Amino acid sequence: MQVAIDGPAGSGKSTVAKLVAERLGFLYIDTGAMYRALTLKAMREGLPLDDEDQIAELLERTRLELKSGPQTRVFLDGEDVSEAIRLPDVNRGVSAVAALGKVRQGLVMLQQEMAKGHVVMDGRDIGTVVLPQAEVKVFLTASLKERARRRALELQSRGIEVSQEEAEAQLALRDKLDESREIGPLKKADDAYLLDTTDLTIGQVVEEILSLCKKAMEA
Ligand code: C5P
Repeated sequence: MQVAIDGPAGSGKSTVAKLVAERLGFLYIDTGAMYRALTLKAMREGLPLDDEDQIAELLERTRLELKSGPQTRVFLDGEDVSEAIRLPDVNRGVSAVAALGKVRQGLVMLQQEMAKGHVVMDGRDIGTVVLPQAEVKVFLTASLKERARRRALELQSRGIEVSQEEAEAQLALRDKLDESREIGPLKKADDAYLLDTTDLTIGQVVEEILSLCKKAMEA
């Protein structure tokens, strides 16, 4: 069984997807982490983030691994980059890399291979492109204000100070880039269940998705 969770930045996708996967005993795959890790490597190598051929070539000589479990970890060529990929510089650069067609092609193939068992996968194009046949598809949203509040808190908890306004501007820009790209844009699949989490707790969102999964399993 496949569970696809998409939505804009800061909608709570990864927190929720991870918990749903734990409850179901499924593998959790954070596709955003893959785009982020590749972006981090490109930045370290000083490559222009909009150079499709150079970044696609970089992907070919890159090993990306995700370790699921109570602590999800992301490895870039064997190095644990779980914290580094959440830094503001990567937040700012990742949408440029994610807009490159050849990069998406490569990562989508990798994601489809990783999704061979029971999985919960989150991202932007999971329900539309990566796993269009997923039994459960959810599109999570929340107001920009609420998403920015959550993002600012998350960054603060890691010692990075950002104002609510700054977080709001950054999220809005990333959403705009993700929605407007030609290939695999951020988009709700026609058959995805729209869930607005603005006034919901994490626990409520998880329960709602689990009940969709239960219905799908019964069907
Ligand atoms: O989910 P997260 O915020 O970590 O994703 C980081 C970025 O990676 C997104 O803003 C988007 O540009 C890109 N992404 C994507 N397709 C996915 C997952 C993430 O383009 N399936």
